[in-house]
Amino acid sequence: MSMQRRDFLKAIGAGVSTAALSACAVSPSRSGPKVVIVGGGYGGATTAKYLSMWSNGTLDITLVEPNAEFVSCPLSNLVLGGSKQMSFLTSSYAGLAKRGIKVLADTAQGIDPVRGTVRISNQQDLPYDRVVLSPGIDFMYDGIQGLGTADAQGKVLHAWKAGPQTVALRRQLEAMRDGGVYVLSIPKSPYRCPPGPYERACQVAWYFKRAKPRSKVLILDGNEDVQSKKGLFMKAWNEDYKGIVEYRPNYVLTGVDVATLTAKFETADDVKADVLNVIPPQRAGAIAAQAGVITANNRWCEVNFLSFESIKVPKIHVVGDSIQIAPAMPKSGHMANQHGKVTAAAILNAFAGLEPNPAPVVNNTCYSFITDADVVHVASVHQYDKDKKTFATVPGSGGLSPAPNAIEGGYAFSWAQNIWADMLT
Ligand SMILES: Cc1cc2nc3c(=O)[nH]c(=O)nc-3n(C[C@H](O)[C@H](O)[C@H](O)COP(=O)(O)OP(=O)(O)OC[C@H]3O[C@@H](n4cnc5c(N)ncnc54)[C@H](O)[C@@H]3O)c2cc1C
Repeated sequence: MSMQRRDFLKAIGAGVSTAALSACAVSPSRSGPKVVIVGGGYGGATTAKYLSMWSNGTLDITLVEPNAEFVSCPLSNLVLGGSKQMSFLTSSYAGLAKRGIKVLADTAQGIDPVRGTVRISNQQDLPYDRVVLSPGIDFMYDGIQGLGTADAQGKVLHAWKAGPQTVALRRQLEAMRDGGVYVLSIPKSPYRCPPGPYERACQVAWYFKRAKPRSKVLILDGNEDVQSKKGLFMKAWNEDYKGIVEYRPNYVLTGVDVATLTAKFETADDVKADVLNVIPPQRAGAIAAQAGVITANNRWCEVNFLSFESIKVPKIHVVGDSIQIAPAMPKSGHMANQHGKVTAAAILNAFAGLEPNPAPVVNNTCYSFITDADVVHVASVHQYDKDKKTFATVPGSGGLSPAPNAIEGGYAFSWAQNIWADMLT
């Protein structure tokens, strides 16, 4: 251990303030312990920022993220509806770099927990004292016949990671004839953003209503019922989008014929589309599998909810969509942001030889755009339950909009601006 690092640990262990640290024992030049964060999305960027801020800039933090800019999935359905452009979803990582975080445009290839290193693409190894994985989701194409190749995936899009696919799906919708059918296939839960597909159906319907009024939105849900804000979405489909949106439950997708844009199901008859949008089943991002931290159903990473440290591999923390969620905890950007803060605090405590906060509370709000302006939300509060060692939903904490309305539209945009500032500046 380097002299400076030993001094840092001793100092914060003794409760010396980080302001004092930067004045004496340790220079503020990031000579403290090393944290490598994999993934600069909602979970990873938040963790990086709060580690930096709460350590007063003394930790040596590297954020590994292949994309040059952050692109938000929340609000990306508005690009499909046509009321927003990609530039609205896009933010720079410059704010994190200004804090002294090393933002590395690279992809983590592997993790060696014995040596404590993260391998990046040029075979260089980044040493860590703690590593935080927030790689989001990867798609499971194995169960969908005909969708295994890059060519097929370039025609039948998911657009479930905001970026080039969002733009490509918008182009497909623009190119579709009036009178065509847009088919949206939803996987069985759990998947990223429970209300997201239903919001997408509304956004596409909003576009069709104005630009191609003879067209249809057909939602083929692999679940038994609408997974979030059911009454509010049903109201929109039966009122605003009557005759445009049709919802069908229990449509478990088994295959696609890409040439004819035909979707095939476990029990129901085949359905032919003009635009076929398949959201495949999901699992933790591939680096989590490589790191050996996937422990639930060969899909998700179980964590200690006080620190988000893997239950299997010490010093590897996992946040965001990749984790095995607590009951009723959504896979959302808001939740990933909250995971990031609990994790940053727990890592700093660990470096100081302290236990993590024994009673964390996190909360979530998910806004969904019904039109370009009218919005609904669902909210929840989740408190750590020390007996069950998981987060439990606080009874009575849930909130739900009475009906789609424009006042909440304003709040939804504020929510986004606030969370982007919270994680990136
Ligand atoms: C259409 C849609 C609408 C949504 N709407 C909302 C909403 O309104 N509110 C809400 O709260 N949530 C919403 N969500 C969900 C939200 O986007 C996710 O829950 C959130 O992005 C999860 O954060 P994360 O950090 O786990 O993953 P991400 O934000 O996806 O970040 C993962 C990052 O890791 C990077 N990465 C992956 N592997 C590696 C590697 N090996 N090396 C380096 N980097 C890597 C990726 O490039 C990516 O940038 C929506 C999602 C979708 C698809």
